Amino acid sequence: MGRWLEGKPVADRVRDKVKEEVSRLLQRTGRAPGLTGVLVGDNPASQSYLRMKEKACASLGLRGRILTLPSDLAPERLRAVIEELNADDEVDGILVQLPLPKGFDTQEVISWIDPRKDVDGIHPTNLGLLLQNEPGPRACTPLGCLELIASTGVSLEGRDVVIVGRSLIVGKPLAAMVTNADGTITICHSKTKNLPEVAARADILVAAMGRPGFIGPEFVKDGAVVIDVGSNAVKDKDLVLRLFGRDEKRLKEVDDKGYTWVGDVQPGVIDKAAWLTPSPGGVGPLTIAMLMRNTLEAFQRRLVLK
Ligand code: NDP
Repeated sequence: MGRWLEGKPVADRVRDKVKEEVSRLLQRTGRAPGLTGVLVGDNPASQSYLRMKEKACASLGLRGRILTLPSDLAPERLRAVIEELNADDEVDGILVQLPLPKGFDTQEVISWIDPRKDVDGIHPTNLGLLLQNEPGPRACTPLGCLELIASTGVSLEGRDVVIVGRSLIVGKPLAAMVTNADGTITICHSKTKNLPEVAARADILVAAMGRPGFIGPEFVKDGAVVIDVGSNAVKDKDLVLRLFGRDEKRLKEVDDKGYTWVGDVQPGVIDKAAWLTPSPGGVGPLTIAMLMRNTLEAFQRRLVLK
């Protein structure tokens, strides 16, 4: 029987350090790092994610604000808004909340952000720096996964790491980060053959698929570290009961739209794994903590350049 790898204590350590440094810099410069979140449209999940980020900014002494724009905004207008933020000296970090509504080319929109203000670490320049193992802003969720793994005391060096999911915000940057940290990486996706067999070779398994409860014990090697990035809103109570069991706490935590939030990994995996992150409550808090750290670092880099 393994142990639950809760995100909050690990995230709190990161947040405490950020808070301390923000207060030190405020005394020295008279200014706190500023993060602007850009929300296009009124997707409720995106609104709620941005509000959490704004709250985190406030609790650590950063200046957080949300710019809400209509979903029918012309892409050229969004470009003009981003360019204004790029030029604004008060803004250290810009975060365009994804997904964008239909009609926007996500990669193109991200490329409009000044790479120095790209606190999500997904601008092409920053992804290039990551591949070169050069310093630069890194994607928040993969950074959070590494922090969680490090907190178990398990080193990545020489370990077999399997990531299920190859998105630009999670799977691909995480694969590069693991490679830079001397892990041996396998990246899987919907065309991967014999997925349970491939996943069960992993010393460290990361599920980032967006498929509720897809990963069961048959995907997991005895003693593995399992990181569940998945964060899925499910309305089907029977499905939740079947995959996640009668977890009263989870069943009670239904949001105002009637959804229960679950991960990609079934909780039964804890019987085989050495460590398993819960979802919610595992990777999520780290993603936000890393965004705060990235904003602080963007501010620090700009101070050095001045
Ligand atoms: P995407 O939908 O962009 O990517 C999902 C990936 O999973 C794709 O590469 C896809 O393969 C792969 N996949 C889907 N189904 C299967 C399958 N049956 N077998 C193998 N691979 C499969 O998702 P994201 O990366 O944006 O997010 C993944 C999950 O992580 C979501 O639940 C999301 O909500 C969550 N998330 C959580 C965060 C947090 O802070 N906690 C932050 C970001 C995401 P293919 O490429 O072939 O389609």
